[in-house]
Amino acid sequence: MITPDEALEVVLGKAPRLPAAEVPLAEAVGGVLAEAVASDLDLPPFDKSAMDGYAVLAADVTRLPADLAVVEELPAGAAPTQTLRPGTCAKTMTGAPVPRGAGVVIPVEDTQVVPDGRVRILHADPARSNICLRGEDVRQGATVLAAGRVVRPQEIGVLASVGRERVTIYRRPRVAILATGEELVPVSAVPGPGEIRNANSSSLLAACRRAGVPADDLGVARDEPSDLRARIAAGLERDVLIVSGGVSMGEWDFVPGVLQDLGVAIHFATVRMKPGKPTVFGTRGERLVFGLPGNPVSTLVTFRFLVWPALRKMMGYAEPAPRPLEVVLAGPVTSRDDRTWFMPATLRREAGEWLAEAVATHGPADLVNFSKADALVVVEPGSHPAGARLRALTFEI
Ligand code: AMP
Ligand code: MG
Repeated sequence: MITPDEALEVVLGKAPRLPAAEVPLAEAVGGVLAEAVASDLDLPPFDKSAMDGYAVLAADVTRLPADLAVVEELPAGAAPTQTLRPGTCAKTMTGAPVPRGAGVVIPVEDTQVVPDGRVRILHADPARSNICLRGEDVRQGATVLAAGRVVRPQEIGVLASVGRERVTIYRRPRVAILATGEELVPVSAVPGPGEIRNANSSSLLAACRRAGVPADDLGVARDEPSDLRARIAAGLERDVLIVSGGVSMGEWDFVPGVLQDLGVAIHFATVRMKPGKPTVFGTRGERLVFGLPGNPVSTLVTFRFLVWPALRKMMGYAEPAPRPLEVVLAGPVTSRDDRTWFMPATLRREAGEWLAEAVATHGPADLVNFSKADALVVVEPGSHPAGARLRALTFEI
């Protein structure tokens, strides 16, 4: 049986980075740039006032107070029409261009209007021009975003600033979600004897949405090879198929056999992790298939640990597995299992550390208690004292 880290390595080794595709700017967030982006302008594009105040010649404010005639008013969006001459100034608002010759903007708080209509400059800070110079942030033609950058809202703002209505990112995988089990009924139904509501289709669709990838719900397959086969075959048309349930050693767990019949190469079918031991991973060509154990907690833990990094790899992330958090155990933890335990825990900040406190659950079906956790602490077999430093996976998704 392979370890969780080995399983992750296998998955990331098989997950292909998808080809680049051009998308409208608004759709790029969460993607990874497949091109370097250069600025089409100097930024700022003109010498710009950083304050509401008066643009003046530096030489006019070396001796104070100084009274200056206001020759022009420049709100944001206006273009100056005059070059400043000695003894004059221009009223400028934040974001407005400053007139030619101006060396300083005096904030309005450091001025007063005198009876003859001129402006009296009371203070001038020689260390602060309050002018953002054209091109001081970026020169026209310079690279503002390197290829490989993850596009967050701040990158979207940069792209907008340099005039990019469309941008090339790596394509996102299209995912199919398939639940399995005779006992499953829809969310809208009241379960009869022996029935339970289908939680996994909803939670997996939500996880994909948070991961920023489109996902289709292929419904529920019965525990019967022909229905499973038809639905899995449809799912194999997508980049990634996620099946939940039907992967254990039970008599009705047909998923691995059906996958093999359909030409899927199985790379592993058990992982030394708790929960998540009967996790299946296979490929057919460039397509990935995950068979996640059906217990709702196991489904989400294996999604978080194995599927999400695979999706990120396909989307072009240089760091597909999100960085774990270092946490400190609030109390002693013992794992008698021979598997790595993904222990649900709450986190609280104390003395500059993240203190992790185990969340008690009744096992892998107990989604209600599991949902109280902030993170999964990776606990190797054995005893760990309070204060031990371990890594934890957070739930950004
Ligand atoms: P399985 O992996 O199919 O053996 O299922 C393990 C447990 O998870 C069983 O108790 C199932 O009823 C439950 N289960 C399987 N699929 C789902 C699902 N989609 N939603 C909620 N529980 C499920
Ligand atoms: Mg089942």
